[in-house]
Amino acid sequence: MSTPHDLIVLGAGPAGLVAAWRAAQRGFKVALLERADHVGGMAASVDVAGIRVDQGSHRLDRATPAGLLNDLRALLGEDLQLRHRNSRIRVGDQWLSVPLRADEVTRKLPPSMLARIAKDSATLSFRRSEDDSYAAVVRGRVGPALYDSVYGPLAEKQWGVPGDALSAMQAHRQAARLSAWKVAGRAVGRVRRKKQTVASGYFYPRHGFGQLVEALADAAVEAGVDIKLEAEVDRVNVYEDEVEVGTQDGDVVTGNLVFSTLPLPVLARISRPAPSLTSIESAARLRYRAMLLVYVVHENGRWSRFDSHDIPDPRTPVLRISEPTNYRENPDDPPGRSVLCAEIPCNMTDEVWGLDDESLADLVDETLGLTGLPSVQRSHVETRRLGQVYPIYRLGYENDLSEVDAWARMIRRIVTLGRQGLFVFDNIHQALLMAYDAVDAIRDDGRFDRYAWTVARERFAKGAGQH
Ligand SMILES: Cc1cc2nc3c(=O)[nH]c(=O)nc-3n(C[C@H](O)[C@H](O)[C@H](O)COP(=O)(O)OP(=O)(O)OC[C@H]3O[C@@H](n4cnc5c(N)ncnc54)[C@H](O)[C@@H]3O)c2cc1C
Repeated sequence: MSTPHDLIVLGAGPAGLVAAWRAAQRGFKVALLERADHVGGMAASVDVAGIRVDQGSHRLDRATPAGLLNDLRALLGEDLQLRHRNSRIRVGDQWLSVPLRADEVTRKLPPSMLARIAKDSATLSFRRSEDDSYAAVVRGRVGPALYDSVYGPLAEKQWGVPGDALSAMQAHRQAARLSAWKVAGRAVGRVRRKKQTVASGYFYPRHGFGQLVEALADAAVEAGVDIKLEAEVDRVNVYEDEVEVGTQDGDVVTGNLVFSTLPLPVLARISRPAPSLTSIESAARLRYRAMLLVYVVHENGRWSRFDSHDIPDPRTPVLRISEPTNYRENPDDPPGRSVLCAEIPCNMTDEVWGLDDESLADLVDETLGLTGLPSVQRSHVETRRLGQVYPIYRLGYENDLSEVDAWARMIRRIVTLGRQGLFVFDNIHQALLMAYDAVDAIRDDGRFDRYAWTVARERFAKGAGQH
């Protein structure tokens, strides 16, 4: 057993890395325990056929606050590139640019659909907004035509349940996406054929999104953080004067305070004293959607000129296909080869979860054929499986979440944060800001300021994630 730490951070995703780094910078003794053999969590990059690829399409939001952006720039320098978004979405049998262009919408969509969108957009302000399901809120915001052709199918694919079985909270967390379509709807209705776009852009590191989390890990180590990889936490025992964290291979780390970015239901399962039976039952009802990532290597230069393609089409389980090399300007990327990444949200009990690599590559081929995308000259395929990706906000999940969260808030010496730790649908900059605030709430004497943290959490609750 090692000497006690001031802070033990569980999980080396973006939130855990930043929390550990900032706490060590303040002079605290910090250990960071990560189950995987690498840092970065969902934001890590991997190598496929010599090309750095992400775990699904990742971009750093343009809305990242200046202070945080400056810190990231200090770590990444010129490698943090500002990029123009060049994505597309399939609507009916057409590909439309994202951000949407009103002139393209009016040119490409069939007149019958345009008429429905225009009619919806004229009546939007008269719709009720107090509805409690995702479907009701989104229909009210963008109208039934866009809901039926875009949002409904996307939601069902992403979360595995129809939009009317999802909580309205899911829609509130997608405010930016919804307003993008609203602009298009209005443009179609009132100023046909006038050029109108929704401004967008994003930051992206030259060597893949994972460069960001690797830079954070380097900074953390330099500040003195002890990062332990392949350390799956399976026990968190809270005592009067310390916390004891155990890993699957028998290691024990002790400390004064724990920051957990682990999925909240996992923390509820492995903590002692254990939560009440009611909290355990609520935790078991908090579900995550899993994701299969299929990487197909293409041998004939770039496969497309776009960074990503969103596919609401219910005939295929593929939600999105991205081409990582198009997210960046990197002369090291080989000119003759590219990689496509197909995202397939699913449950771990679904048949698709158990398919072998070649069958999954065939599924990608079928998707390309179905949606009018170019074929791939495939030389290699490999897959990754992520078990807990999207929190599922089914109707009524709020009661279960507040039951488990009430338990988590009451345990002394444990603070939950990050996307999984709070069961939120947040983006990376939001996970990072959360970690900044959590570290700021540690007093100089090592005690945790619950008041400051509660105020910060109230602020996050008003923010909106999207991915
Ligand atoms: C397909 C996809 C696309 C996305 N696109 C974007 C985007 O474009 N922009 C954006 O800002 N965000 C995007 N996100 C969200 C982004 O990835 C998350 O916001 C971010 O990774 C959350 O960081 P985190 O540290 O809270 O959680 P995670 O990244 O999930 O990190 C949690 C860590 O805990 C570890 N862990 C779990 N259990 C244990 C255990 N028992 N013991 C030890 N360690 C454990 C995990 O291995 C992991 O490393 C996307 C996510 C997905 C899935």
